Amino acid sequence: MDPWEPLGHLWEEERAPDGRLLPALTVFLAGAECPFSCIFCDLWQQTLDGATPPGALPSQIRKALAAAGRERERAALKLYNASNFFEPRAVPPDDEPEILELVAPFSRVTVECHPRLVGDRCLRFAERLAGSLEVAMGLETVHPQALARLNKEMTLADFDRAAATLRGAGIGLRAFVLVAPPFVPPEEAVEWAVRSAEHAFTQGVERVSLIPVRGGNGAMEALRDAGDFTPPRLDQLEEALELCLALEQGIVTADLWDARRFASCAECTDARLARLDRMNRSGQPEPRLACTTCKGN
Ligand code: SF4
Ligand SMILES: [Zn+2]
Repeated sequence: MDPWEPLGHLWEEERAPDGRLLPALTVFLAGAECPFSCIFCDLWQQTLDGATPPGALPSQIRKALAAAGRERERAALKLYNASNFFEPRAVPPDDEPEILELVAPFSRVTVECHPRLVGDRCLRFAERLAGSLEVAMGLETVHPQALARLNKEMTLADFDRAAATLRGAGIGLRAFVLVAPPFVPPEEAVEWAVRSAEHAFTQGVERVSLIPVRGGNGAMEALRDAGDFTPPRLDQLEEALELCLALEQGIVTADLWDARRFASCAECTDARLARLDRMNRSGQPEPRLACTTCKGN
């Protein structure tokens, strides 16, 4: 990892609460590794060995914005550093003024943070930001035993407290909810994803991203071998999104990055992923696709 080069950027369209699609740029930053070690997380694979050097993030953001092209009207920006934006090892506080200046043209800036690291620094950052701030936090699951065993070092009360702090300061909230995390019985995976999204909405979260749990970090493979983790299937992600949209409580999208790996049918996978993408963009449920080969499983 080169601390002076961004990992990449991605333009997308995101649905706003009024249904319009607005351009959103995600910038993937290389920074210090997260101090937590959630069992399902593989983000450490794209982090620096030590603390983020002062000046590195402004340099990365400047380069990513230049590569991404001219700011589009009313665009939102997501600064994802595979860690916690308000943790000093990850984002040196002295870099904040320059970062604030670089991101000033954007209508909204989203950063990631563990709920236990949401505090004064976050509130001060929001006050000085030209646009609005949104904080993305991993709720992961409200399944009590599973949450306790994910190694996230977070209770539901921690999440709710952080959400209240953000809400009280007028800061937007986005939550990540896992579909089929370890320690949740596979036949209950959809139900717990929906219950978790519902909980997020009761805490003032405006956007929920459903993340199908991916293996690949070693720990997940060991859990699978021990019978504690069953990777999600595409139909579970479909059902979770359908049921979450039916809640009509906020914006819910299914994370489709690498979602092909959850599918098993060569006949219908493309069409099913395209349907999920349309539902992400429209927020409207569509009828399930019929497939004579796999019967939708
Ligand atoms: S807090 Fe987030 S970045 Fe850190 S280990 Fe957990 S999931 Fe990964
Ligand atoms: Zn099929």
